[in-house]
Amino acid sequence: MKLLFERSRSGRGSDLLPACDVPAVSFDETLLRGTAPRLPEIAEVDLGRHYTELAKQTHGVNDGFYPLGSCTMKYNPRVNEEAAALPGFTQLHPLQPLESVQGALEVLHTAEKLLCEITGMDGMSFQPAAGAHGEYTGLLLIRKYHQSRGDSARTKILVPDSAHGTNPASAAMAGFQVVSVPSNNMGGVDLDALRRAAGPDTAGLMLTNPNTVGLFDANILEITRIVHEAGGLCYYDGANLNAIMGQARPGDMGFDCVHLNLHKTFSTPHGGGGPGSGPVGCKAALEPFLPAPRVRETEGGYTLYTPEETMGQVRSFYGNFLVVVKALAYLLTLGREGIPEASAGAVLNANYLMRKLAGAYTMSYDTPCMHEFVMTLEGLAHDSGVTAMDVAKRLLDFGIHPPTMYFPLIVHEALMVEPTETESPETLDQAAEVFLKILEEAKADPEGLHQAPHHCPIGRPDEVTAARNPILRYHFEG
Ligand SMILES: *Cc1c(COP(=O)(O)O)cnc(C)c1O
Repeated sequence: MKLLFERSRSGRGSDLLPACDVPAVSFDETLLRGTAPRLPEIAEVDLGRHYTELAKQTHGVNDGFYPLGSCTMKYNPRVNEEAAALPGFTQLHPLQPLESVQGALEVLHTAEKLLCEITGMDGMSFQPAAGAHGEYTGLLLIRKYHQSRGDSARTKILVPDSAHGTNPASAAMAGFQVVSVPSNNMGGVDLDALRRAAGPDTAGLMLTNPNTVGLFDANILEITRIVHEAGGLCYYDGANLNAIMGQARPGDMGFDCVHLNLHKTFSTPHGGGGPGSGPVGCKAALEPFLPAPRVRETEGGYTLYTPEETMGQVRSFYGNFLVVVKALAYLLTLGREGIPEASAGAVLNANYLMRKLAGAYTMSYDTPCMHEFVMTLEGLAHDSGVTAMDVAKRLLDFGIHPPTMYFPLIVHEALMVEPTETESPETLDQAAEVFLKILEEAKADPEGLHQAPHHCPIGRPDEVTAARNPILRYHFEG
């Protein structure tokens, strides 16, 4: 497919700008560029076709089933987009006088209140732009807390070996040493190993529950107790809240701070690179350290304030505000009944699909799951040479986006399936049929599966080269 630069023809364009009605300003010569930027010049219709062609080459939630584990690729209602597109929100300037943005402050304040209720936290900042950024911010909260008590010996963060890769990465970026805690044979935290690892140098623990194998760790109260008794704090990775929102609260499990991925659980389409939002919530003891500014309701209306011992800012202004608008629209639409119903549906759908596949595929843990389940194709790979990658690629031929592959690392030849609550029983039945059919193909014609997909615009790109030597700039001829 041609790039925009290759479609460009000198003199073409699609802009019809009105005559300039403000006085021209002249700049110093030294501030002006010598040559015009080489932007593509293209007619509107060709531009439209270019992006339509690109859109057809990809697979989104509107194209078909998208069970990408740990990513919660659910359908995000259009009405939330409409709310976020209201000019009263989109035309705001972050430096406007406060009395002119009372509605926007109310959005932030109300979303904070509702999400604190869902997580069992006391305060929340919407500044972090995504999940990993939220983790980083939460870790800075933990550090500030220990520093404020003059406790400088706490340099280590405990992270289970099943954790999402961003956890150890964020801990290292925040200047902590990462200590890996092994899992037990049920994919949960090994309590004895945790007891051995926790001590006077423990700053905290990072945990996601349900964990990355889709199981709820029933020892959670004991886990957080062990860390607290050692003097550490507990951080909850709430990127995947879809299984427990309205059902169980990290605050009640003993966690001191948490981040959420509004772009996974709370209705912002994602996968294309943003914008996202990774708000960080915390218990009252950590609130003085939250990023500034925060919103407060007073008799005269909403105002901003700076928490006494704030860590400062982790991003400009208030974070990705329009993502918060979408989350609030979603929360208010579903309400107190709809939120727990959504998470119950997510868990039901995952268990339904898991049961349909369990006779043929090997589940890595043979127990009811939460919002997602993990299969291991190690046996299949051993017997037939067909790998998790081959099965994932073949699914594309049937209009199904592959599950998450080769994650979590503690499961070999892993496929991690998250159907989400927005899928119908018919879709799940069809998906199960496809999964089972591919297994038959693996037995009859393993070679054919190594070549899959057969009906996609691209089949097997060289992912290593794409990651190591990405071509990010267009090289003009001459
Ligand atoms: C997606 C995810 C993250 C990271 O979120 P980003 O917004 O991609 O930075 C962290 N933890 C878990 C468990 C996740 O699924």
